[in-house]
Amino acid sequence: MEARAAERGTLREPSAIASRPFEGEAQALVRFAQILAASGSLQDSAREMLEVAREAVDADRIVLRIHDHVTGDLVPFEGAGPLLGDHPPVTVTSGQGVGGSIWAFERGEVVIERDLDRGAIGGRRRSTAGMRSSVTLPVSSREATIGVLTAGSRRGDHFAPRAVELLTVAAASLGALLEIGRLRQEIEVERFIRERIDNFVSIASHELRTPMTVLVGYSELLMRGEPSIEVRQDWYSFINTESRRLTEIVDAFLDVGSISAGKLHLSIMPVALGPLAREVVARFARSAGHEIDVASGAAVPEVLADPDRVRQVLCNLLDNAVKYSPEGSRISVSFRTDNARGRVITSVSDEGTGIPLGERSKVFEMFQRGRFADTVTVRGAGLGLHIVKSLVEAMGGEVWLRSRRHRGSIFSIALPAAAHAISGHAEAAPQSA
Ligand code: ADP
Repeated sequence: MEARAAERGTLREPSAIASRPFEGEAQALVRFAQILAASGSLQDSAREMLEVAREAVDADRIVLRIHDHVTGDLVPFEGAGPLLGDHPPVTVTSGQGVGGSIWAFERGEVVIERDLDRGAIGGRRRSTAGMRSSVTLPVSSREATIGVLTAGSRRGDHFAPRAVELLTVAAASLGALLEIGRLRQEIEVERFIRERIDNFVSIASHELRTPMTVLVGYSELLMRGEPSIEVRQDWYSFINTESRRLTEIVDAFLDVGSISAGKLHLSIMPVALGPLAREVVARFARSAGHEIDVASGAAVPEVLADPDRVRQVLCNLLDNAVKYSPEGSRISVSFRTDNARGRVITSVSDEGTGIPLGERSKVFEMFQRGRFADTVTVRGAGLGLHIVKSLVEAMGGEVWLRSRRHRGSIFSIALPAAAHAISGHAEAAPQSA
């Protein structure tokens, strides 16, 4: 930081700080060090540091602003002091300068305003935010200025050189605090990515290895032996099932890839949910040992969505309903209109294991599989619900779940209705698919 200060107004004898006991300042410095050493949240630590600095220099307000690289603005990060109630901290844009913020930021200089009622930097009028005098200091991290610290007082010429010195230490401590926060965030991001990669590797290797083992094993058996037609047909059927499973996993990985890269292509058009749901259910009804019902779709308003993606969403939800509920139990697809929000809600309910409360928020995350005892043996890559959520949200909708342990789950998706004038209730007596 530049030692040179942009002094404004005439220098008077230091007032407030000179009469304060020296221990007050020493205590403030000790508190700065303690806050830096503690591992509190960034926001809380900054607030506490600002409060300590404000009290030590007897300021009426103190605000830390951070430079936004995109807009170039100085955005309030945290503040303290009684003056903030009537004058909440504002974003400072170039060309405006509360207490010389832009000046201090751009030049890396300390700006001391002894009488804010007497004009402004560059002849421009500024909002004084209830202050008559102020000190603004650049806040730096790793030798770059990243923000400014402004202390203000209702009194003119309030800040003596000793107060400015203490604020300089406060600004340096805040810079260090922000740097620690940045490093912590980097570590968190790294840990998050490492966890995702570990999850991906363990799930991908397990999920890919199982079908591969079946494919290699049965194809070798077919090449080696002379099994009967019945046995051969069983083996072909295993090979077929596992090849499909492999294709599904690879498709899911590709979907997640394009979702993450923001390359999802949607063809939005009016979609009739009833017929579409019945078509999807028909595929399941043939193979699964479950009773699957679809509510009559006659009165279901059309939604604006991509029909292929809605099909995929319903497939994933039904696939889960089948996987996580006992054979012979009932699965239902129903529809409901949400007139107030112009949406149509489709729900898939089952009578299965349910999802424990603590797991519910996680199941929509990528590679997150339920860890509760009755589902860990079921195969899956932990991608289905992540894809459901991403697709529904990309179509302007919402997804949520209700669940009761050992009673079942209801997954609901809301999609925008095609027509604004939707009326009535589309829930009808269940029909067997
Ligand atoms: P996968 O089924 O491949 O594990 P999903 O993303 O589809 O991945 O689901 C994530 C987790 O949510 C599952 O591992 C399971 O624990 C839980 N889950 C999903 N659907 C249901 C359901 N209908 N009933 C109970 N648990 C479910």
